[in-house]
Amino acid sequence: MSDKFIKGLLKKMTLEEKLGQLTQRGGSIYTPELKINEEIHNQIKSGYIGTFLSVCGPENLNEMQRVAVEESRLGIPLFFGHDIIHGYRTIFPVPAGEACSFEPELAKRTAAAAAAEMRANGIHITWAPMVDVSRDQRWGRGLEGAGEDVHVNNVFSKARVEGFRNNGIDKPDSVACCAKHFVAYGAVEGGRDYNGVDMSDIRLYNTYLPPFKAAIEAGVDFVMTGFHEFNGVPCTVNRRLLKDILRDELLFNGVVISDSASLYFVAPHGYAADDEDLCTQAMNNGLDIEMSTQIYHHAMKSALEKGRVTMDSIDEAVLRVLKFKYDLGLFDNPYVDCSAARDALLKPETVELCRDAARRSMVLLENNGILPIKDKNIRIAVIGKIANDKRVSLGSWVAAEADKAAEHAVTVLNGISDEYGCKNVSYAGAYDYIDNNQQQIEMMKNGNYDFVFTDEKLINDALDTAKEADVVIFTAGEPNMMNGEAKSRSDISVPRAQLEILRRLKSLGKRIITLVVAGRPLILREVSELSDAVIFTYSLGSQMGNAVADVISGRYNPGGRLAVTIPRTTGQCGTMYYAHNNTGQPADDNVWFTSKYIDVLNGPQYCFGYGLSYTEFEYENITTDASEYKADGVISVDVAVRNVGDCDGEEVVQVYVRDTVASVVRPVKELKAFKKLMIKKGERAVINFKIPVNDLGFYNSDNRYIVEPGEFIITAAHDSSGGISRAVYVV
Ligand code: BGC
Repeated sequence: MSDKFIKGLLKKMTLEEKLGQLTQRGGSIYTPELKINEEIHNQIKSGYIGTFLSVCGPENLNEMQRVAVEESRLGIPLFFGHDIIHGYRTIFPVPAGEACSFEPELAKRTAAAAAAEMRANGIHITWAPMVDVSRDQRWGRGLEGAGEDVHVNNVFSKARVEGFRNNGIDKPDSVACCAKHFVAYGAVEGGRDYNGVDMSDIRLYNTYLPPFKAAIEAGVDFVMTGFHEFNGVPCTVNRRLLKDILRDELLFNGVVISDSASLYFVAPHGYAADDEDLCTQAMNNGLDIEMSTQIYHHAMKSALEKGRVTMDSIDEAVLRVLKFKYDLGLFDNPYVDCSAARDALLKPETVELCRDAARRSMVLLENNGILPIKDKNIRIAVIGKIANDKRVSLGSWVAAEADKAAEHAVTVLNGISDEYGCKNVSYAGAYDYIDNNQQQIEMMKNGNYDFVFTDEKLINDALDTAKEADVVIFTAGEPNMMNGEAKSRSDISVPRAQLEILRRLKSLGKRIITLVVAGRPLILREVSELSDAVIFTYSLGSQMGNAVADVISGRYNPGGRLAVTIPRTTGQCGTMYYAHNNTGQPADDNVWFTSKYIDVLNGPQYCFGYGLSYTEFEYENITTDASEYKADGVISVDVAVRNVGDCDGEEVVQVYVRDTVASVVRPVKELKAFKKLMIKKGERAVINFKIPVNDLGFYNSDNRYIVEPGEFIITAAHDSSGGISRAVYVV
């Protein structure tokens, strides 16, 4: 049915109407959201625009839709896209934070909850999930994905796609979704945003493509191209990526959309001479929709007339878009029910899920016994402006009506005050920070590279506040200006002003719990030395403060684990990920000619998978059901773990594999499976994993996935640094 209908429609379309379907108008989160006006009215009416980006408000959307459906010649409905990266009005933890829960099921539920709020408010597709593996901690966008590991990215990619698409994209509580940024955007040179990527196929196929494959297999609707150039060709017009790999190998049959104006940026890359060239490259190399620009309208006609593009390739792209609109159910049901829109927001069960997701995403890095704080009469000084900043609680990727979302944010200060009583909790901001780019540029011109600043008065106020308290909760880390898109850092230190305050607090002899809130790993050596406990979190969303109170009070025993490695120094960035190759002279701090830096201990400050609990776990035994397996076999691994501490707690049992000898050098270990489970105090659990032998394979130098015979070391561990192992053989 859909086929006949959309082909019939296509036959009636003029070139301009076709190009309209391939044009998405909108701004970005940095420009005001569009509202319908005369110009937009005319564009919709003439079929010049087929989709909008970053538009909000059910009434506004309905009016735009009405013009499309009732006033345009063919009545083709619009679709609306938005960056609902981690929540629409109820804001969940940023994705990299949520990945620290090691609970893909949770991500599926938060994505579904976000979908329900969005769809009820008229948004049809989200520009998520971002499935870029990110191994360079300097890159500002790591917070949007699921961290450094391929397996974790794969399972979260699948979970988020399934969550967004929920009951099917034509249903009222579901949205379509988009995997981005194709491909290897997380590997931009030096971690600098928009920079180029030059990469071997071995790395592309084994590390960066799998999460896209997972998204495609889960039914993702769109793929967004990256801004960057990949091996010399901008991704947005990269035929090998978009046709050979995405369509032919990964079998993606949805819509390919550019990133915001990334077709336009193909020219400054030095890869296109003019608009006609851009149209030619886009159509011939696999791009369907251009986001935020209208280059097709300017130059496709002349490209067509000169025979540089064919009508067939334009038609193919248009059919994909029409099919998408059909699948969304828009031809039957184009409008939003405004009366139901508000009721869909912030439902009690969604807010409860939000709180649960937030506390499950926190990682306890250090604790000398100060936590949990069960005494409700203790006097607490909450120090640091981040604790009192609703926007930092939500994070830097809240795109739709962020002000309205902020009204509902519970800050750390709110949460701690509710928990311990306002009379017991005092607060001092201690530092301030800039909140716009211009301010930052001015400061840098004056030789000041910090985003965060303080002065004697602010520090003294903080010290006076702390003096009266039994315990200090110090919030350090990054304000929103320091992470997100175009926020790469050349130095991932904790801001100097915060360190100075922490030193001064320490000199008071106070017990200090430091909550590090950031969008990326930071260099934490000094923070750890000066603090009695350290909790690492990303922005955790609307319920951040309540979740922090749940953990600090011990109502919830933290079980989050790092989904990224925290290095010791900025200089280690990009090389410090657990699944690295061994080299011929693996790092050994005591041996000269080994692969290391001479001015820092090798190995991370905190490794991937690391995280403490209020209890402790011991790994007692690992067994497999055989020692030899055929390529089509399944390895059954049993791991015995005992809770040897004083309370019940959740452990993330991690299973790593090392292929000791292969035809292509393989990483020192790779996570292949994990399970998070509650183990009661004193109890021993035996956790079973079924690992298909096929999962031990890799893409070889011919880009073929193979499983080679030989020895594999299977390690079960609390994190990526140790564990108990057993060898098996593939025969
Ligand atoms: C980002 C995308 C985002 C798009 C639309 C771009 O700047 O790279 O991830 O989806 O803007 O807002």
